[in-house]
Amino acid sequence: MSLSRPNAPEGLQLEAALQLLRRAGRAPAPGPRDGAWLQQVIDALCDLSSRDALTGLANRRQLEMTLEHEVDRVARSGESALVLLLDIDHFKRVNDTYGHAVGDVVLQAVAACLQQCVRPMDTLVRYGGEEFAIVLPSCPPVFGAAVAERMRRTVESHVIRDGAATALSVTLSAGGAFAPPWVRSSAKLWMQRADAQLYRAKAEGRNRSCLEPAAVSNVSAEEKSLLFAASAFASLDGPDEFQSTRQP
Ligand code: GH3
Ligand code: MG
Ligand code: MG
Repeated sequence: MSLSRPNAPEGLQLEAALQLLRRAGRAPAPGPRDGAWLQQVIDALCDLSSRDALTGLANRRQLEMTLEHEVDRVARSGESALVLLLDIDHFKRVNDTYGHAVGDVVLQAVAACLQQCVRPMDTLVRYGGEEFAIVLPSCPPVFGAAVAERMRRTVESHVIRDGAATALSVTLSAGGAFAPPWVRSSAKLWMQRADAQLYRAKAEGRNRSCLEPAAVSNVSAEEKSLLFAASAFASLDGPDEFQSTRQP
């Protein structure tokens, strides 16, 4: 069997893609335009399309994919997962006081602070203008509040500098909710519940974190089997873990 890759197909219009990659400093090294080279172009484009240009964090598209995957995993495994929404407090004042360019520096600094607080398995994204979201798989409810508080305090205590003249710090509010285990839910509903907690954190005075209490219920084996029977897996010849839980 030959290990060589096929040449890139003739006639592909790649200039727009390459221009984009050059601007992002991600263009592949010059070389023959073979299959390996084309793969590099595709990988770089995929990476670029899942990142936020200002902070380098994952973007909202990536968040949606992660949430859907996680909501499904939690429903099937019963393991808990937390989503946190974090919104910088009074960020408009930062822009108004120091200018938009400093506002951008603040967003980058907050992104870097949050990045320090997450595990490799967590997904940290820039969700909107001055809003971030973090999906934390395998996060037991007893740790949720401590995790959110650690992030809030890390940002609060960080002094952000832009040149010698500007030094400032910002605070953020956080809202969090756990994905319901053994329940077929949706990414949208999960986010809405976290958003309600963020709203509460803002309403209660900002610079705080509010988490929805994790649902405590004893789900019986019979109830779990109903979940799988009602799911798309019931109609598939899936792995044993699904088969064993199906209704006869
Ligand atoms: P709150 O505490 O209620 O969240 O108040 P806020 O001022 O943070 O929220 P508001 O929604 O009023 O303002 C958000 C501001 O974020 C307004 C917008 O101009 C700014 N913003 C959004 N994206 C960017 C960006 O990429 N760079 C900069 N510098 N500012 C941004
Ligand atoms: Mg906001
Ligand atoms: Mg804000």
